[in-house]
Amino acid sequence: MAKAATAKKAAKKPAANKPAAKKAAVARKVQIPARHGKATFLKKGQSIKVINTHGTQVVDCWAFNANDLREFMSMEHCRVMWESYRPKAGDFLYTNKRRKILKFATDTSPGVHDTMMAACDRYRYELLGCKTFHRNCNDNMWEAMIEAGYHPSETPSPFNLWQNTPVEEGGVINQYPTVSKRGDHLVFRAEMDLVIVFSACPQDILPINNKNPKAAHFQVM
Ligand SMILES: [Zn+2]
Repeated sequence: MAKAATAKKAAKKPAANKPAAKKAAVARKVQIPARHGKATFLKKGQSIKVINTHGTQVVDCWAFNANDLREFMSMEHCRVMWESYRPKAGDFLYTNKRRKILKFATDTSPGVHDTMMAACDRYRYELLGCKTFHRNCNDNMWEAMIEAGYHPSETPSPFNLWQNTPVEEGGVINQYPTVSKRGDHLVFRAEMDLVIVFSACPQDILPINNKNPKAAHFQVM
């Protein structure tokens, strides 16, 4: 009975409305609020655009296998595959099981990103002299994952989008403001079902965000 009723109800709905409604839902631009994180599920084959809305913002990024959070995007494994410490558009990103998790498909910025630096955390800000709690990328990742219904077991090293901390002469790592411009974007394609997490880095003591953390956006395509 219930089955027949459902079928009847579905038949009444104009089929043409369905794809349009779905398209609107996936095309929505989502804000990563300044100093906060956001996570979203991506099905294998789906792409996501990350937008540096103001051009000056570093966005820490993580990706986890949605079916096994112990497998995640791993910068140290990526660097082996790239034979470089920075990826370029067209490269893949790899997990701690050396499997492809994302394709770094598009980069409209000059390609200055970081894979060397740990996410900022409360301890980092304590060392920088903060006497009270300072928002940080590590906690942002946990907040965003839990909000999206996932419970990871650790904080992997992030892929720091637009972070301008190059390895320079003598192996020195310096910290500079971004070289990206307003509206620059990156596109990643999911190579497995995954959860991707972004943190609009709250760093306002060092110059990486121009000492003025701002929001960024993403859009599932
Ligand atoms: Zn940070």
